[in-house]
Amino acid sequence: MWIRFSDVVQPVEFHERVAPFRLELGFHYEATVTPGELSLLVEPWKGAHKLDGKFEYAVVAPCSRCLAPASMAGTCAFSLEFRPADQAPVEEAVDVSTESDEITYYDEDTLQLEDLMAQQMYLEVPEKILCREDCKGLCPRCGADLNQGPCACPPDPDLRWVPLAQFVSPRKE
Ligand SMILES: [Zn+2]
Ligand SMILES: [Zn+2]
Repeated sequence: MWIRFSDVVQPVEFHERVAPFRLELGFHYEATVTPGELSLLVEPWKGAHKLDGKFEYAVVAPCSRCLAPASMAGTCAFSLEFRPADQAPVEEAVDVSTESDEITYYDEDTLQLEDLMAQQMYLEVPEKILCREDCKGLCPRCGADLNQGPCACPPDPDLRWVPLAQFVSPRKE
């Protein structure tokens, strides 16, 4: 679903349901977002447009410790301002720090709601999602899921007492 800003000359409310989408969170790390209905108010404001939106969501992503599917849910609420690119202050190109996160300057007159929701979800999804608070993760040596019970690996040697020589990699002759 698209919004064309030049068509919005008075406040308009949108209620849209969009299909589940994927978020790339990093190398081989993807979340699936199932959004609830988006409620969005678009208002013309001083030559720009203000957007106030809200939607509930459910996210499924691999647990950052054991890789099993982990889920979380919440509500995403945002308040943004969209201005045509020709209104962008010139000094912004020099001093990025004055740029407000809340203002987006656009070249195209249209905005895709799916893109808008995905952008907001990048801010919403934490870097690490756990399947449960006390997830024990995978054994770094054999890869076993330690939530299923201890693996067969011998316990870690106490590194303080390992002779230094063991840390020196063998010289290749
Ligand atoms: Zn886990
Ligand atoms: Zn192990």
